Amino acid sequence: MKLFGTSKVNEKGNLSIGGVDTTELVKEFKTPLYVMDQEFIETTIDKMKKAFKSSRFNTRIAYAGKAFLSTGMIKLVESKGLDLDVVSGGELYTAYKAGFPMNKVHLHGNNKLVNEIEMAVDFGIDTIVVDNEDEIDKIERICREKGKKQAVLVRIDPGIEAHTHHYIKTSGLTSKFGISLFQDNLFDIIKRLNDSEWIEFKGFHTHIGSQIFQSAFFIFALDEIFKYLDKLKKELGIVVHTVNMGGGFGVYYKEGDDPKPIEEVLSEIITYTEAMEIKYQIGFKELCIEPGRSIVGNAGTTLYEVGGIKETVGGKTYVFIDGGMSDNIRTALYQAEYEAGVVNKINDTDVKDVTLAGKLCESGDIIIEKGKLPKSTEVGDIVAVTTTGAYCYTMSSNYNRMMRPAVVFVKDGKAKVAVKRETLDDLIRNDEIFEL
Ligand SMILES: *Cc1c(COP(=O)(O)O)cnc(C)c1O
Repeated sequence: MKLFGTSKVNEKGNLSIGGVDTTELVKEFKTPLYVMDQEFIETTIDKMKKAFKSSRFNTRIAYAGKAFLSTGMIKLVESKGLDLDVVSGGELYTAYKAGFPMNKVHLHGNNKLVNEIEMAVDFGIDTIVVDNEDEIDKIERICREKGKKQAVLVRIDPGIEAHTHHYIKTSGLTSKFGISLFQDNLFDIIKRLNDSEWIEFKGFHTHIGSQIFQSAFFIFALDEIFKYLDKLKKELGIVVHTVNMGGGFGVYYKEGDDPKPIEEVLSEIITYTEAMEIKYQIGFKELCIEPGRSIVGNAGTTLYEVGGIKETVGGKTYVFIDGGMSDNIRTALYQAEYEAGVVNKINDTDVKDVTLAGKLCESGDIIIEKGKLPKSTEVGDIVAVTTTGAYCYTMSSNYNRMMRPAVVFVKDGKAKVAVKRETLDDLIRNDEIFEL
């Protein structure tokens, strides 16, 4: 089991994170519990900021809030000087209530609702990333009504579909997101945006995939985009100032994963963009990225208590934990893989194959299908599942009327609650007993 950031086995032989013994965390906050390594998040951001810099153009890093969002996390993002990406009115509202500077917020989504666009324009956010033509009508109408001009990027699909280990180069478009770079009327769309009285067209956005390990895919995408920018300038005389390369930088989940260090990937992107900028001389001014998983993924660990161990007749061993797909749906949703350990037996190498299963009424409620835990694992043990910082809490649910776990941030020997554990009363808060 790979440990990240400040996670280590302490002098008592227990897993500690941020200088806090996980057995103490469990005593104080109960299980299941999401633990976030604050220092690790901060040093990761610092590394990214250091690597993602150029003397030839401006750079910006926006944290993709959908990976993990709470008002406290937004404060951390603000303290680090990052921008923030949101994808809904709910995320936008959370940022607003946290006091995040709205002129550093970017709004995404393939079907932004009128009230979400209105909220964004009212708050004066930095950029709306336009996903399709219908949205342009909405933005223009709303901005005209409000007498406010809105800066936009257009989300394009450069025909590079990257996955963890392979990519597909296509000229078609089947994605629900964005407009294909190969679509005939893209010129018309850009002309319309560029001529609009209510829209400031700043450039292009792309997000080629998630959990990408090879930096070459980003380079291929940059290549396509810069070729297009050159064409746009030559044929329409339109200068694009900004390119946003999205997120998708891969992280380690389980043995065999071998992502390049993020600072190397970012340096490569910078170096290549500088070369493109020199080659084409098209007035390019700003490069942005939007990492989510690569900022918080490895920083999160979920702690569970073992409630039962079942040896099936078929020879499969289940270890039952007190959470499941309600706090981590990624395995059920897309066969995600994880590593786990028992917090006071992390270095116990006498292990066996187990399936780490949740307590919910779904046979797909599995956290780790093929995992390894010590043979000595017993009821009452605390299991730690690593790399749960991204897309676990944000995808959590109340299925089976499970209460969402608390999220604590740990640093320098202290634990602070970022999100309280839900209570039984939270579960019925919005229910009404109606007249039968
Ligand atoms: C999800 C998403 C991101 C973040 O992706 P990660 O894989 O978490 O880095 C960035 N930009 C957009 C548009 C996204 O949809």
